[in-house]
Formats: sequence, structure tokens, C-alpha cells
Amino acid sequence: MSETGVWPGYTLSTASYVCSLLDPWLVTTLDLCAHGLSYYRKDPYAFTPLLDGRSLLLSGDGDATAREIAAFDRRDVAGFEAYVECTDRLGRALFDSFSDEEPHFDRFDAQTQALLRGSAADLVEQYVRTPVLQAELVNDGLIGTYRGPHDPGTAYVLAHHLAGRFTGVQGAWAYVRGGMGSVSQALASAARAHGAQLFTDCLVTKILVDDSGHACGIEVKGRSVKARVVASTAHPQTTFLELLDPSALDAAFVTKVREWRSTGPSLKVNLALGELPNFTSRPGTDAQPHHRATIHIASSIEYLQKAYDDAVEGGESEEPLIECFLQTPTDPSIAPPGKHVLSIFAQYFPYDRRDGWSQTKRDAAAEKIVAILARHAPNLPNAIEHRQVLAPPDLESRFGLIGGHIFHGELLPGQIYEDRFATRAPLRHLYLCGSGSHPGGCVSGFPGKRAAAAVLRDLSA
Ligand SMILES: Cc1cc2nc3c(=O)[nH]c(=O)nc-3n(C[C@H](O)[C@H](O)[C@H](O)COP(=O)(O)OP(=O)(O)OC[C@H]3O[C@@H](n4cnc5c(N)ncnc54)[C@H](O)[C@@H]3O)c2cc1C
Repeated sequence: MSETGVWPGYTLSTASYVCSLLDPWLVTTLDLCAHGLSYYRKDPYAFTPLLDGRSLLLSGDGDATAREIAAFDRRDVAGFEAYVECTDRLGRALFDSFSDEEPHFDRFDAQTQALLRGSAADLVEQYVRTPVLQAELVNDGLIGTYRGPHDPGTAYVLAHHLAGRFTGVQGAWAYVRGGMGSVSQALASAARAHGAQLFTDCLVTKILVDDSGHACGIEVKGRSVKARVVASTAHPQTTFLELLDPSALDAAFVTKVREWRSTGPSLKVNLALGELPNFTSRPGTDAQPHHRATIHIASSIEYLQKAYDDAVEGGESEEPLIECFLQTPTDPSIAPPGKHVLSIFAQYFPYDRRDGWSQTKRDAAAEKIVAILARHAPNLPNAIEHRQVLAPPDLESRFGLIGGHIFHGELLPGQIYEDRFATRAPLRHLYLCGSGSHPGGCVSGFPGKRAAAAVLRDLSA
């Protein structure tokens, strides 16, 4: 989502900020580019500065990436190529499963299932040995997930983040010009062109159910709106426990909804900057290739493990997982001339931390993150002109993300494929079209596409 008016002259990608999983079929079929969607591939794609003055920059340029990796360990050049081959294969397999009408994890062969059920650390360590390279690769297995790098199932999260082919390149991520809200705007424009009427800022308070126990409309602003079908993109706990009377549902199903794991560890900090971060390892405040990459801070898998362990002990990471992205070096349109926007995504700051959340804790978390970044880019603190902090409870209150979980619930074995919520709810004429259904989180359009296909099939049956 992009937001204007938070700070004068800026458009913020308030929550999500990069795109890969958006279904290319939707982009073409709905002609989203004619409706304003414009993007570029994020390249270079990953940058990690180190405190000893070295740094690692990965890009689509194979030779340049090989040189970067060889500067740490020559043996990892071939290992990295083999890793990319493996994750391309996994990513392609996942992508091919994302439109499945009846998703089943056993569509994958036994070896793939075993890999996906394993840990991101195990997967990466099979291929490369340089600590900073390992951390840069493992990072994708932890995004949004309240698990550590050695925990089972984080390899699935990693593969999920490499399943997209929005730009035509398997696993590549893109920046959407104008911010992530441009995806919603393009979809809205395409929908209107096909005759849809859209109403925003309307809180749905109830899903209406008729005498036969079938969904037949919604209640909004105290008014009943009748409909042949209802499709909900709200979190499954909102849909089934708040908007419906759970007594209308099967008890075992209600138990599944109540026990759905949806405790988020992610915190977002958005900064407006007067100048670009000046990294000690790659000096300069003029836009350079590393300013266009996702910037990671973890120097090793141990760093990430410690970040997780700190949170599990009841508080938050002393030194968090941090990934940041600067939109402005390639899209100056979203900030006043000469100014920059830095999106920071950090873990682990759990929703259910033992000592609770307060404004002081939000401010302290943001200050800690900035101080860690400043070890690598000392000009950062003084470059900050505006700051927005969204802790997990803010993600819940602003976006309806129950438990602050960015994906409407963990994307781990036990909550994926046949174990995620079915598109067809256990109530006729009600469909789930959000990330509580297969294939889960990220800006992808797949849950909506699958729901639309189910509605069309059911209405024409
Ligand atoms: C901080 C953060 C960073 C992220 N970064 C990325 C990223 O870089 N790239 C990426 O691909 N994904 C990212 N994600 C994940 C991505 O945003 C989600 O997976 C995606 O938006 C899911 O889309 P959805 O339609 O399923 O649900 P949502 O986007 O959660 O939409 C559900 C909508 O339903 C509305 N709603 C809920 N209840 C009601 C009600 N009662 N009445 C009316 N409306 C209601 C909510 O307000 C919300 O607008 C991020 C998420 C967060 C929070």
C-alpha cells in the first residue's frame, strides 16, 4: 500500500515495499500496465556492509557477483551457482503450484518435500560457507516468520520468496514505481474498467447468512448489502470469528481458526532522509549500485539465530534482522527533490512480547535500528527528517493483520497447502480471497485469482 500525506511531498510504501510474486498472468490478462503499473527489476538485489570495511553486493551480473563472492572465498563461486540452480528449481515448483485448485503438499516429490520441510540454514549451508553470504541468502527464509534460521520449515519460506517471476526472471524482485499502492491502483482501475464499483474506508461488520446457512451479503455502516457470493480478503480469524457467528460453523473448524498461528515478529520503520546513507564500506552520498539493492545487516547465520533467541526469551532482538530498501535512487517521484525514502523491515519484535508494547518501546526499537545502521553509514542519524514506526500491534490495528502477522498466519508446514484455509469456506457462497488461503502471503494476486475461478465455476454449475 502507498500512502500520501504522511509527510508533505512523500508517497510511502507504508507496509510492503518490493514485489516479486505478482502473478504475470494477472498482469497480462488485466492489462495492468495499461492501467498504470510500472516497475523495474531490483538489480543489484542484495547488499551487506560489514564492520571490517568489506561488503558483499549480489546482482544479476554473473561475473560481477562471482568477483564479489570470490573476494571472500573462491570455492563459494561454484557453490553459489549450484545454490541458485537449486532455489530456481524449488521456486519454479512452488510457482507452478500456486494456482492449484486443490493444493496438496504431496504434489512435490519426496526429495523436494524434505528440502522444504527443512531449515533455511541447512539448505544454504549445503552450498556456501562464507558467513555473510550464508546470512544474505538465509534472510529470505525468515521474513515475516517467527522462527529462527535453523528451524524446520524455514526453507519453505525461503523458497516462497524465490517463487515469483513477475519480472520474467525466476526469483527476481522488483520495485513498483510510485510505491506498492500502484499495484492496488492498477487493479482498481482495471476493475472499474470492467464495471466494478469500489467502496473503500468501509468497515464490514458482518457477513449475512440466510435461513439455509448460506452467505448472502454483508453488513456495512449499519446497512445490509445483499449478494450472490461474498469473498473475504480479511484474516481468517476476522472472517470466521468476528464477521460470522462461529456457532454457525463446525466445531473442529472453529478450533482450527482459533489455533491458527498468527503471532508476528516484524516491525517496519519508514524514514525520510535528507541525503543517501554514506556507507563506510562503499563511500559516497551520490546514488550508487548498492543504494538500489536490498540492504542487509546480518553478518552470519549466528547473528540471525541470536536475533531470534533474544525474542524467544521474552523481549526483542538486541541486534535485529534488518533489511532496508531505498526507493528514491530509482524513483525520485515519491519524495521532494533531493530527498529520499528508506523502508526498514526488522525482526524480531514480537506482538506478544512479555513486557508489552508502548510508544517508548516503539521509539526505542527505531532508535536501536538506526544506531545499528549508523555503524555502517554514520551519516544516517543526522539525515533523518521524518520517521514512522509500525510495531506488530500497529500492523494489526491499521491493516487488520491479526497478531501483527504480515502473512495472515505463519507460512510454515502445518499452515500451507491443504493445511491453509480453503478458498471455499465451510459455508456456501463464502470464499476466502486473501493470504489466509493458498498460497499465502506476499503481494501476489494468487488467492484472489483462485477465489474468482472458484466463484465462476460454482455460479455456472
Ligand atoms: C510491514 C510489511 C511488509 C511487507 N513487505 C512485503 C513486500 O515487500 N512484498 C510483498 O510481496 N509482500 C509484503 N508484505 C506482505 C503483503 O503485504 C501481504 O501478504 C499482502 O498484502 C496480502 O494481501 P491480502 O489481500 O491477502 O491481505 P491484506 O493486504 O492484509 O488486505 C486485507 C484487507 O482487508 C481489510 N479488512 C480487514 N477486515 C476488514 C473489515 N472488517 N472490513 C473491511 N475491510 C477489512 C484490511 O484493512 C486490508 O486492507 C508485507 C506486509 C507487511 C505488513
